[in-house]
Amino acid sequence: MIVFQCEECGTQLQALDENAGKKARCQCGAVMPVPPLSSPSPAAFDPAPYQPSDPLPTLDEYPPVAPSGSSGPSVGSMMWGFCLMAGGVLWFVASLANGRTSASAIVLFIIGLFRVIGAFNKE
Ligand SMILES: [Zn+2]
Repeated sequence: MIVFQCEECGTQLQALDENAGKKARCQCGAVMPVPPLSSPSPAAFDPAPYQPSDPLPTLDEYPPVAPSGSSGPSVGSMMWGFCLMAGGVLWFVASLANGRTSASAIVLFIIGLFRVIGAFNKE
């Protein structure tokens, strides 16, 4: 269906597609050629009305983040064990740098190791 306006009175006229290019007579008596298949009105090309995006999820939907360092005494014990292990390693390396091995450093490392293992076993 071709929709066009009368050149004389502005009345909206309709013509079949196969009548494009033929003469059309308006109700006002004006005769004019039927334009080729009219392109769809610009409104038809408009994208869908803009939809605002979904509201951002509220913070309530996220699980609360557990505050670090307050998960129980075992974590603190484990940290102490790691500190002892690190201290033992540093001590041992420092002793090696001086050309000797330090049994005390090894003992310190082992104590730290057992603290860590004990903390794990408490879980
Ligand atoms: Zn007319």
